[in-house]
Amino acid sequence: MEQDFILQHFRDTDALLEGHFVLSSGLHSGSYLQCAKALEFPYDASNYGHAIAATVVEHMRAEGLKPETVKTVAAPAIGGLVIGYEVAKALNLRFIWTERKEGVMKLRRGFEITQGEKILVVEDVITTGGSVRECVEVLKMHGADVMSGASIVDRSGGAAEIGVPRVALVEMDVPSYEPSACPLCEQGIEAVKPGSRHT
Ligand SMILES: [Zn+2]
Repeated sequence: MEQDFILQHFRDTDALLEGHFVLSSGLHSGSYLQCAKALEFPYDASNYGHAIAATVVEHMRAEGLKPETVKTVAAPAIGGLVIGYEVAKALNLRFIWTERKEGVMKLRRGFEITQGEKILVVEDVITTGGSVRECVEVLKMHGADVMSGASIVDRSGGAAEIGVPRVALVEMDVPSYEPSACPLCEQGIEAVKPGSRHT
């Protein structure tokens, strides 16, 4: 999938809003990303799943890894669930997830990993890489050989480290500002909380 095509689809589905926003961190930004909106229709989610599957297979081969040895796709809940499931479906692999319980990332629900099992980790958006990194660590603790990671969007400018090689369909650099230093505030544009225009 082409980057431009993905960004247009994000705009069409309101996954990517452009304007002047107050983020949950309190920082201001000219755009707001809610990737789940781009995956509302299973047909679209399936397309993203196939695109990641193809991209990650190519990337793993380029890294000298053997994608055909991967047995399982895993994702950190909640963001990675839909896209992880679709990538597993596209590759005809098993799908499991890790989730936070009282703030700690865990493997629950009776999911089992065999010693040395080759796993691919999938997330919707990587910003700092924190959730994916925790997911990778939990899987390794259970004996997994985590081979690679993949996401739809990389917002880290390539900087996020997750402990294994990773690839993304699209790079998106969205600057955010302290309200006192926000160029949009300076232009007198009203800042809104994302979603508020729909309520
Ligand atoms: Zn502002």
